[in-house]
Amino acid sequence: MEDNSQAAVPYRVLKVQVTMDHHIDSLTAILGAGGVKSGTSVTAYDPGFDGGNLSAGLAVLPHTTQQISDLVRYCQSVRLSLVPQGGRTGLSGAARSTEGQLILMMQAMANIIAIDAVSHTVIVEAGCTLEALEMAVRQHGLTCGIDLGARGTATIGGMIATNAGGQEAFRFGPMRQRVLGLEVVLPDGRVMGDLTQVIKANGGYDVKQLFIGSEGTLGIITRACLRLAPYEGQAITGLVAIDSLDNAIRLFRRLEAQTKGRLLRAELMSAGHVQVSVKDHGEVALGRFAQHKDCVIFEFTDPVVLEEELGQALEEGLIADALICKNEKERATIWKIREDWAVDRAFPDGLWFDISVPLASLKRYIDGLSVRLKSLNPAFQLFHIGHMGDGNLHITVNAEFPVSDHYQAVSKLVYEDLATYGGFFSAEHGIGLEKQDALRDQSDPVRLALMQEIKRLIDPMGIMNPGKVLG
Ligand SMILES: Cc1cc2nc3c(=O)[nH]c(=O)nc-3n(C[C@H](O)[C@H](O)[C@H](O)COP(=O)(O)OP(=O)(O)OC[C@H]3O[C@@H](n4cnc5c(N)ncnc54)[C@H](O)[C@@H]3O)c2cc1C
Repeated sequence: MEDNSQAAVPYRVLKVQVTMDHHIDSLTAILGAGGVKSGTSVTAYDPGFDGGNLSAGLAVLPHTTQQISDLVRYCQSVRLSLVPQGGRTGLSGAARSTEGQLILMMQAMANIIAIDAVSHTVIVEAGCTLEALEMAVRQHGLTCGIDLGARGTATIGGMIATNAGGQEAFRFGPMRQRVLGLEVVLPDGRVMGDLTQVIKANGGYDVKQLFIGSEGTLGIITRACLRLAPYEGQAITGLVAIDSLDNAIRLFRRLEAQTKGRLLRAELMSAGHVQVSVKDHGEVALGRFAQHKDCVIFEFTDPVVLEEELGQALEEGLIADALICKNEKERATIWKIREDWAVDRAFPDGLWFDISVPLASLKRYIDGLSVRLKSLNPAFQLFHIGHMGDGNLHITVNAEFPVSDHYQAVSKLVYEDLATYGGFFSAEHGIGLEKQDALRDQSDPVRLALMQEIKRLIDPMGIMNPGKVLG
């Protein structure tokens, strides 16, 4: 039999190369020589969380909104699809690219344009990292009011495009509630300039909200006006061990009241997570915390209040153990246990879910799920971490064998009770490529149809991050 495979592969690659080489000249005319990268100049970048992010092998780095507008008009005219990328820290495959696509890297647009310390607002370009912005606004006694583990790399544009949540969302809301105004380049090259700087702005349909959480499928976010909040000062960290999640939630509400709504963080970790992470990092002194059902990190600025409250909770038996960090080194150790990915390293073939459950049902949900998973397969181990303050759980189901082969059965159990409890199947990481089945299965059909109609209306040629979110 004739072997065509050798001939077929080079032909396909050659065809793409010829087409992409042709684009390089046109793209260089728009962006200048330094603004276009191909081949190893692209793969030299850190691909980020998803190994497929840089697979397109061709990237542009614009410096201005006008360049993006010209670029998009070109892409529209030749039907070249675009994959916007910020820090590539997204966790749902939304920034993955393939051969024949063009990556739009936003890092060259990272200017902080104006901090208004009186109005508590900032206008910033989309490629600015969260950490850079936070450092800048702190100089004015302000904070972005949003924080997440990938702060050093995640960009404001990427966080808006994924409607990121993080550790302070229970207080200040996710990105959707931080955005006052947006500048967006549409798939036909028009620029929607809506850099409103006020909280109250009733102008009919709030169009900018469509782009928040759209994961690059409707347009390119170039600038944003964000709300800021007063910076509360250096956080003091307390770690508590609990035997009942209901008690942790009771303590959370009590701390909120005692701190007059200024509690900074309330982060949950299951004992299994703590155990694996403590072992991985050799932090044996923290091993005692893994002997209880869950742990919670609470943060507040006043050590006296935190100590009094945790002391009282211990006396009442609301919590089983507690420690308060004495210095920044101890604080960093606690956060390393929470934020590092030791569990994923220990179980690389586990299944990940990012869901929201109302606090009143959190314990019932986790207890119920763990029983049902064990009856599905006694070898399944349920781990969770989460932003407890807003009921956002990151669940992983692991075993000594690849659990990913059991996605259908496991995901059915994870999702089946959520709607009954008033929860949601996707909390803060977005849909991307990973959660399209869940979006299809869990969404109201009319809502889904409206989403499809909006996509067709704004991007009729389908050049913006095709295949993501809606498939
Ligand atoms: C260690 C770690 C901890 C994390 N913790 C949290 C957490 O607590 N809470 C949370 O919500 N997320 C968390 N994440 C996920 C991640 O940080 C967020 O999804 C982040 O918002 C993505 O920003 P990015 O700049 O990296 O975007 P990318 O990953 O580059 O892109 C994500 C999506 O946004 C689109 N996009 C990027 N820039 C633009 C733009 N300018 N215009 C239009 N579309 C754009 C992309 O096309 C893609 O669809 C974490 C990730 C890591 C690695």
